Amino acid sequence: MHNIKIYCVLFLLVMSLDLEAATDNKPQNIIEMSLGNNDGLPNDSYWQQKLDYKIIAKLEPKNKYLTASAEVTYYNNSPTDLLILWFELPQQRFKEEKQKTSESNDIATKYLQVTDKYGTPLKVVWRGTFFSIEPTQPIKARSEFVFHFSWDLTLINRSDALQPRSGFETFDEDKFLFGVAQWFPRAVAYSAARGWSLTPFLGKGEFSLELADYDVEINLPSNYLVLATGQLKNPDTALSKKQYKQWLTLTDTPVFISSSVEESKGKLKNENKKWHFEAYNVRDFSFAAGNNLIWQSQKIKVLDKSIRLNVSYPDNGRWLWHQYALPATRHSVNYLTELLGVFPFKTLNVVNITGISMEYPGIKFVGFRGPNVEVNKEEIKYTRTEKYDVIGGIIHEVAHSYFPMTVNTDERLEGFFDEGLTSYLSYLVEQAWNPNFQSFYGKPYRVFEANHKVDYSAPYQLADKVSNKLDSHYHVPAVAFNVLNKLVLEKHNFNEILANFIKQWRSKRAYFKDFENFVSAQSNENLQWFWHYWFETNKRVDLSIDNVELISASESIEFPTHQTQHKHKPQENIAAINYAIVKNTAVSDPSQAKLLGNSFEGLNLSKQDQYTHFSDDVELAAFHWEMCAYSQMNNSHQILSSGVKFTVNNIGGIPSPIELKVILNNGESLNKKWPVEYWLINIDSVKSKKSLQLEWLFEKNVKIKCVVVDPRRMTGDTQRENNYYAVP
Ligand SMILES: [Zn+2]
Repeated sequence: MHNIKIYCVLFLLVMSLDLEAATDNKPQNIIEMSLGNNDGLPNDSYWQQKLDYKIIAKLEPKNKYLTASAEVTYYNNSPTDLLILWFELPQQRFKEEKQKTSESNDIATKYLQVTDKYGTPLKVVWRGTFFSIEPTQPIKARSEFVFHFSWDLTLINRSDALQPRSGFETFDEDKFLFGVAQWFPRAVAYSAARGWSLTPFLGKGEFSLELADYDVEINLPSNYLVLATGQLKNPDTALSKKQYKQWLTLTDTPVFISSSVEESKGKLKNENKKWHFEAYNVRDFSFAAGNNLIWQSQKIKVLDKSIRLNVSYPDNGRWLWHQYALPATRHSVNYLTELLGVFPFKTLNVVNITGISMEYPGIKFVGFRGPNVEVNKEEIKYTRTEKYDVIGGIIHEVAHSYFPMTVNTDERLEGFFDEGLTSYLSYLVEQAWNPNFQSFYGKPYRVFEANHKVDYSAPYQLADKVSNKLDSHYHVPAVAFNVLNKLVLEKHNFNEILANFIKQWRSKRAYFKDFENFVSAQSNENLQWFWHYWFETNKRVDLSIDNVELISASESIEFPTHQTQHKHKPQENIAAINYAIVKNTAVSDPSQAKLLGNSFEGLNLSKQDQYTHFSDDVELAAFHWEMCAYSQMNNSHQILSSGVKFTVNNIGGIPSPIELKVILNNGESLNKKWPVEYWLINIDSVKSKKSLQLEWLFEKNVKIKCVVVDPRRMTGDTQRENNYYAVP
C-alpha cells in the first residue's frame, strides 16, 4: 500500500478523568531500590563488595556426593564496619521441604565448618537458607577478611518435584550427567541500596550475588568431561592427548571433540582426575560433568575477540542438539555482540541437562532435548515446538550473558528485570534466526495470552508472589520492551540506549529504577506513565475505536458504531481464513518447506506439525482481515470525506500512543500517530483519561473504506475486534 502524507488539523475535544487510574497503587510488596542518580548513572559514591574464592572440590558420581573446602577473602569496600557476614546455601531449602514430607533428608549440606585463617572456628547462625558468620574482630570499612569453609553437598535429582536449578540426570549403565550450581556458600549481596539482601529463598526467586574471582579445582573420575565457568587452566592434563590436540588447534570450523566415552576405554573409571578453572569478576561459578557427553566446539572471532563455544549433550540428545545447538549458540553470540557490544565471556558452554534451564556465567544449562534417541538410531520426526524449544532455550540462556551476568541485577527482588530484558533480547535473536520462529515471549499481539487472564499479576513483584512467573516476568515485560522500542521510542534507538546502559553498569549492581531513569534521561522522554502502567499495575492495553463520523464537504454523516456493524463475529471469520490459508500453504513435502525457511532451517517435521508450521502466516491472514482487505468488506458507496471524527476508549487501562490507518476505496491509505500525551492529564503524570475524542482533517477529499487503530499491531492491544470500523 502507498502512504500519502497528509497535513491535518487536530482538535482535542473532550477530556474525561480516569478516576480509576488516579487510585492506582503499586503492588504492596514492591521495594523500589536504586544505586544510581536521577540520570540512571551509578552514584559518585557507588561501591560494591568483592570476594576471592580458592576452592578444592571432589565429586563422587556414584554417591551424588560432593565435598569441598575453600579459602575465601571478603573485601569490605563499604563505608561500614561489618560485625557479621551473610552467606547462602539455597539447596538447604530442599532439606526443609523433605523434612516436612518425612522423605529422606539425605540431601543438601549436612556439615559446614567455618574457621578463620588460624583454624579457629567461627560462630555460625542459620536463618532458613542463609547463615551468618561472626569474625572475632569487626571487619573494618575498606579492609579484608580471610577465612575458610569446608562443607559437603548431596546432590538432588534434577527431576525432583521441588524443581531444583541444578542436579543430576541418570542414564543406563552408571552414566550420569551433573549440573552443579548453588553448590558453595555464596556471599549474600550487601549494598548501599538495601544492606544485606536477605529476601528468603522460597523456590521461584533467583539470586542476589556479589562479584568474585574464582580459582576452582574439581576432582572426579577420569572418564568424566567437565565444562565450567571461566577458563580451563590445565587442558594438557585434564584432556586426553587427542582432545588436547583438538582443543589447541580449534578454529572457526565446528568440530566434534573426541568424546569422553571414547576416551574412557581402557582407563580405570575410578581413577581421579583434576580439572582446574579460573574466572574473574563474575557473579557465580557453576559446572557440568558427565561420562556420556557429546562435545562440539568452535572458536569464533567477533569484534576482535576470540570466543570458544562448547556445546555438550548426552548421546541420546543427538538429533536436535546435533543439528542446532552450536549454530544457535554462535548466532546468539554474533547477533548480541552486534547489538550490545563486546561479548562478555571468552568461553561459552551450553549444556543440555533435561529439565534444568538456568543461566550461569560462561555456562548455560538448557533443559529441552527433543525426542530421546540414541546415537546410531534412525533419525526421527520431531514437532515444531520441540525444535523451537531447543533453539529458543539456548538463545534465551545465552542472552542472559548481559542480564544478570554483565549488569549484576538483583534477581531475587526484581526477577522481571533480567528475565524481561533477556526475553526481549531473545525475541530479537529468534526473529533474526527466522522471522517465522515460534517465539513464546515478546510478540506484542500475543500478549493477550498473559495479561488477559483474570489473575494476571503486575510484573514488579517477587517471583514467589506473581500468579504466573512466565507471564509476569517474561512475556509481558518482553512485550513492553518491544512496545517501547517500536512504538513509544520509535524515533530513538532503544537498543542503543540499552547497549549504553550495559556499558555504564558493566560489572556493577543495578536496580530497575536505575534502568527507568537511564532510559528516560537518554531519550529525554517522559516515560513515568510507561513504567507505571506496564510494570506496576496488572492493567493491559485495549483501545477501542467508537463513534466514527465521516466528515463530508457539506455535512457530517454519522454511521452506527462498529459494534452494531459486524455481521459476523471476528473469531469466526479468522477461523475460516485460517482454514483456507492452512489448506493452501501447508506442504506435505518437507523439502519444499525448507525453501521457505532460511539457511539455518533443516526441517524434519512430523505430519501433524506441517499444518501448524505456518501459524505466523495464518496470523498475518487474520491481520489482513482486520485491515478490511477481503472482498466481504468492500463497500460501494461513493461518499467523499474531508476528514474523520472518532472516539478512542481506553478499556484496558494502559494508555498508549494511537496509530490510525484510514484505508481508502482505491487501496491507498493514510496514517497518523497521536502521542501518548493526549491521554495524560498532566505532563509527567501517570494519571490518564479514559476516552479521547479526536478529529483528523485530510488534505483532500477521499473515499473511506475502513478505519483501523493500531494497524501495525505494536501497542500490545489485547482485544482486536474493537480496533477497526468498516464503512457500511
Ligand atoms: Zn531466563
